[in-house]
Amino acid sequence: MADPFGFMKYPRKNDPYRPIYERVHDFKALEETLPEAARRQQAARCMNCGVPHCHSGFFYGGGRAVGGCPNDNLIPEWNDLIYRYEDKKAFERLTLTNSLPDFTGNVCPAPCEVSCNEALNGQGITIRNNERFIIEQAYKHNWVKASGMPVRRNGIPVAVVGSGPAGLAAAWRLNQLGYSVTVFERNDRPGGLAMYGIPNMKLPKKIVARRINVMKEVGIKFVVNTTVGKDVTAAELQQQFTRVLLTIGAGVARDLKAPGRDLAGVQFAVDFLTTATKAVVADGTAATQRLAGKKIVVIGGGDTGNDCIATAVRQGAKDVKQLEITAAAPAQRGTDNPWPEWPRISKSGYGQAEAKELFGDVITQYETTATAFNGTAGQVTSLTTSKVAKFQPIAGTEQEMPADLVLLALGFTGAATDVFDQFGVHEIYDGYNTNVDQVYVAGDARRGPSLVIWAIREGRLCAEAVAQSITAVAAAQA
Ligand SMILES: Cc1cc2nc3c(=O)[nH]c(=O)nc-3n(C[C@H](O)[C@H](O)[C@H](O)COP(=O)(O)OP(=O)(O)OC[C@H]3O[C@@H](n4cnc5c(N)ncnc54)[C@H](O)[C@@H]3O)c2cc1C
Ligand code: SF4
Repeated sequence: MADPFGFMKYPRKNDPYRPIYERVHDFKALEETLPEAARRQQAARCMNCGVPHCHSGFFYGGGRAVGGCPNDNLIPEWNDLIYRYEDKKAFERLTLTNSLPDFTGNVCPAPCEVSCNEALNGQGITIRNNERFIIEQAYKHNWVKASGMPVRRNGIPVAVVGSGPAGLAAAWRLNQLGYSVTVFERNDRPGGLAMYGIPNMKLPKKIVARRINVMKEVGIKFVVNTTVGKDVTAAELQQQFTRVLLTIGAGVARDLKAPGRDLAGVQFAVDFLTTATKAVVADGTAATQRLAGKKIVVIGGGDTGNDCIATAVRQGAKDVKQLEITAAAPAQRGTDNPWPEWPRISKSGYGQAEAKELFGDVITQYETTATAFNGTAGQVTSLTTSKVAKFQPIAGTEQEMPADLVLLALGFTGAATDVFDQFGVHEIYDGYNTNVDQVYVAGDARRGPSLVIWAIREGRLCAEAVAQSITAVAAAQA
């Protein structure tokens, strides 16, 4: 086990964020990486703690809050291997559970770190950064492709619908097990929200493309610009493939039905982020002035809202404000929210920090909603805001807030049901199977809007369930 006293010798050091004044001028990665020797010291901080809460993701207190890695990543083991310069073994250990550490190493909020035993007195081990170090070593030494190759092909065709983290994780595992996997994606590029959703600063698209390329190299087929249910029917897929996995995400955005909702300039966050990423992919990572002189209001105080703020800042917005309907979280953990639970405390996101630095003002108004969008000649020019009590507007608190663009970042209600309907799926079970024997469902489409690492877990376990069901049917027929 690493250095049992490493946590006393070496202070925690994250991969540093680039300074705000520099990073707001481009869409390049937010984070830089520590030198290799410093990274190995960080791995040495993982102590011999006996009961590592970091690596078992489970819910405490009747589903109250999750602690630890939702994917049960074997964290202490690979920390130790980094410390010992055994990077290939660390990669093998990490990818036993997590086939996409290139994604999580960049974007995971790392519930593991807050439930780390060292976080009782300190800030926990830099687990996410350590994970990224391992996968970057693996790409550098060309270990990734070999790890995805099947021992032998069985020739059984499996379709995966949707190429987000759940679909990619499922495809990777099924391919390793020898199945012939075809991934269908309605967008022009695979990756789901990892491609069009999470901005380039958080997850550079060259990292997503690198993963897709290696998946193609190990034999996985991608069919893009193809909407299942429209361009290819459920019946066609069920005829051509032994199993069909629906990993279509939970992309139905929650709306705000207020007067003026139809005005130009009132837009869903993901549509805005998708257009922004398409521009980055086409034009490069330099900041643009698409929003020069514009006032932006983001409705929704979560991570998506934060990504919108950061993107608007890089597009030259003159001002950015954010409305959040709930109250601000407390600065410290409450007594009902002890370690090792995920801490429900206030934190400033990277985009909020950038906007505050640039505009020097209060960015986020809590317990506030919009009750109307106002405009002239069909274009939004302002919105009417109102304070809320129990999520209802309080009469007499209305104010007018100028806005040239309003972004609705209110979360998602779930998966589009038309695809399920076409496959005849109306029940989804805990084992990822459904009322239709041939069809499985995983990722956000099954569990609702979540995190990349939950999607990876679902994709991996769904792939195992599919493989077991095919084996069981074959055994019964033998
Ligand atoms: C703006 C934003 C930022 C986020 N940031 C983070 C973060 O920092 N960290 C984190 O852990 N999580 C983050 N998330 C959440 C994370 O991205 C999702 O939980 C994860 O991508 C879900 O993976 P999935 O594969 O289930 O679905 P998705 O990633 O949504 O992928 C579903 C795919 O299915 C495709 N599809 C849908 N219907 C069809 C069809 N009929 N035919 C063909 N293809 C279809 C879609 O086009 C899409 O590509 C963020 C989410 C958003 C919206
Ligand atoms: S995937 Fe996330 S929660 Fe799991 S070990 Fe990595 S950083 Fe931690």
